[in-house]
Amino acid sequence: MREILHIQGGQCGNQIGSKFWEVVCDEHGIDPTGRYVGTSDLQLERVNVYYNEASCGRFVPRAVLMDLEPGTMDAIRTGPYGQIFRPDNFVFGQSGAGNNWAKGHYTEGAELIDSVLDVVRKEAENCDCLQGFQVCHSLGGGTGSGMGTLLISKIREEYPDRMMLTFSVFPSPKVSDTVVEPYNATLSVHQLVENADECMVLDNEALYDICFRTLKLTTPSFGDLNHLISATMSGVTCCLRFPGQLNSDLRKLAVNLIPFPRLHFFMVGFAPLTSRGSQQYRSLTVPELTQQMWDSKNMMCAADPRHGRYLTASAMFRGKMSTKEVDEQMINVQNKNSSYFVEWIPNNVKSSVCDIPPRGLSMSSTFVGNSTSIQEMFRRVSEQFTAMFRRKAFLHWYTGEGMDEMEFTEAESNMNDLVSEYQQYQDATADEDADYEDQDEEAAAE
Ligand code: GDP
Repeated sequence: MREILHIQGGQCGNQIGSKFWEVVCDEHGIDPTGRYVGTSDLQLERVNVYYNEASCGRFVPRAVLMDLEPGTMDAIRTGPYGQIFRPDNFVFGQSGAGNNWAKGHYTEGAELIDSVLDVVRKEAENCDCLQGFQVCHSLGGGTGSGMGTLLISKIREEYPDRMMLTFSVFPSPKVSDTVVEPYNATLSVHQLVENADECMVLDNEALYDICFRTLKLTTPSFGDLNHLISATMSGVTCCLRFPGQLNSDLRKLAVNLIPFPRLHFFMVGFAPLTSRGSQQYRSLTVPELTQQMWDSKNMMCAADPRHGRYLTASAMFRGKMSTKEVDEQMINVQNKNSSYFVEWIPNNVKSSVCDIPPRGLSMSSTFVGNSTSIQEMFRRVSEQFTAMFRRKAFLHWYTGEGMDEMEFTEAESNMNDLVSEYQQYQDATADEDADYEDQDEEAAAE
């Protein structure tokens, strides 16, 4: 068995993480007490990737929940699936992080981190062959962001050869009113570039726009945003949870999608988009799903793929459908839009079909793309960061926790470098090989 250990931290991380478990339990036929009540062997075949099986036959999520204040975790404990988690795996403090990355990363969070690592270690020791970790968090606050990235770096130190996947929620002023979020997010990105292997980008700006424009919700709540996130997380992890060939573990996913190690921030798309509470069975065709899945309106990241190029992409279709039709449709998209795929990585789009559709739909598809256009989102955060940092606004909250201004400067340039690297590969063409040869010859001559 190749197990995954799930960790959720902070308010957002705990909220999206617990929704993830509700959806996954439902898909695998596990009820809120951890009993299997499903109908298909496929639900159990790889259930051990995410669940421990207790001796009484009960399925327990391999999940660690952490926070610097008790509120959100209390709500989970008393919520519909609160009893499914192992009580010892709730680790929390009382102080809060006050939307301050420094408190999460260096002070309050650093005090609690060893208790979290103890629980993580215990779960890891119970695994037959741990493939890696997945972390749910927001980047705009203090706990998920500061303490989340502290945990990621500690795990990387202790388990350097295991994979680290994150579901990272990027901040948007459309959804939040805390001004320092661009600071927290930039400091986090600096960490994620170095210490995470793959990051699924969930951008509140895009989630808000989908709710407002496509789903016609006039005042979207976190519940509405999180409904989109849980559908996406279910889709992204489907290939890890059910039998199949494509991207069947975290490393294979990384190998297919990451041509350069720093460029591991993925755009995810989902089709069909449905609002929370709408349970109608919409019947869609494979061509419709394919068309929607590639549409910028369906991307959970506020960046337009048509402003960049795809380095790689992969698509997971769910439901009963013809694999042949899926392949034809996917080839069709690539042929019609060939300029949007870098020509120097042949066959850079992969697709597969999983028989089991998500609840409430007969078919769905999830898209994961490594697009150079994601730089648009990083640029947005960077501009907000720089506007404040130029005047050193709000810095005292961070230096007051012992942080050095230098770390801000480094984080800023690391994110700007990332943007330049995306641009460089966006502009790269196959013909440039000739230039490289020239350079080699020049170098040899010197
Ligand atoms: P923490 O508890 O210190 O980690 O702070 P939060 O998780 O509350 O971080 C604040 C950021 O997360 C802001 O950008 C919020 O807009 C966002 N956020 C908080 N809760 C949720 C949620 O349930 N869903 C989504 N999509 N974003 C959230």
